[in-house]
Amino acid sequence: MHNRPMAEPVIPLVDQRNGALADQLGRPLRDLRISVTDRCNFRCTYCMPKEVFGKDHPFLPHAALLSFEEITRLARLFALQGVHKIRLTGGEPLLRRHLEGLIEQLAALRTPDGAPLDLTLTTNGSALARKARALKAAGLRRVTVSLDAMDDAVFRRMNDVDFPVAEVLDGIAAAREAGLGPIKVNMVVKRGTNDQEILPMARHFRGTGIALRFIEYMDVGSTNGWRMDEVLPSRELLARLRAEMPLVPLAPTAPGETAERWGHADASGRHDPAAGEIGLISSVTRAFCGSCNRARLSTEGKLFLCLFAGHGYDLRAMLRGGAPDEAIADAIARIWRGRSDRYSELRGTQAAADGEPHVEMSYIGG
Ligand code: SF4
Repeated sequence: MHNRPMAEPVIPLVDQRNGALADQLGRPLRDLRISVTDRCNFRCTYCMPKEVFGKDHPFLPHAALLSFEEITRLARLFALQGVHKIRLTGGEPLLRRHLEGLIEQLAALRTPDGAPLDLTLTTNGSALARKARALKAAGLRRVTVSLDAMDDAVFRRMNDVDFPVAEVLDGIAAAREAGLGPIKVNMVVKRGTNDQEILPMARHFRGTGIALRFIEYMDVGSTNGWRMDEVLPSRELLARLRAEMPLVPLAPTAPGETAERWGHADASGRHDPAAGEIGLISSVTRAFCGSCNRARLSTEGKLFLCLFAGHGYDLRAMLRGGAPDEAIADAIARIWRGRSDRYSELRGTQAAADGEPHVEMSYIGG
């Protein structure tokens, strides 16, 4: 089993401080990513390489996964601590059976001031055409779809299960028809693998109302063989785009937003909303840890404080050990208050090199 933490970290016992929940760097807890399965039907080489996650890979048994009721209870307690956005991830979340049932439960939750949670999901799109309507009806608001190329051969090579681009595009169309939106598309860019697809992707999604985000290839987990020379810095990517299409900078839509937004410009040089926008997610060359307000819940109920963390805090044990809500909410607050993670700012330093092996992204979600 890859990078599963050895020793269980201790949940801190007491913390007397009051007021708005913030971590050691003053960052609030606003965004919770919940991995509902560690399984995926793709084997993207930068996330779940086939040679590591082969057919005999010991995925988690069902009993180890948090049930929908357990996930919803935790989500309710996180909402009490300030979370107002929940992103369902995996592995591939649409592989979790009856996921609509979980979405219905989460859609019924409210923040302390009575607002519904901003409920979204990241998917590889392989089952979206079939499920979009039911997801919307269950209460899902919007989706982010991963697509790494327009060229079918390149995409099939990257997902490494020979899955065609056309079916992902059908899924995106079905999501739009079902009223899920705004829809975002995430493309992981790996120099020498799919960087020739940057312009074809931008041309395809310009004017569709779908925001295309380019993600720098990251050293997530410990199995993707990451090398810095395969990272295409967002600055260089932007220059390639601007050589063909005019783009203007746009303001962030929310605190802690990971993407740097650029709008397609009209002839007068102003943003043309109908032409849409692109985003740059530059975790390697322009770290955004300073405003990172994201927590991650693994498939089996461990709370991770960073995508590049080596260990998580076992909330499932509290759930299944009969702990009352107050004790779990307290634990969440104490864990967050103790957080000082900022791996992307430290990448390349001795401190980062001395850190624990990174948990796999397929285990805690991107
Ligand atoms: S590296 Fe960790 S702390 Fe920094 S932005 Fe990513 S998840 Fe947040």
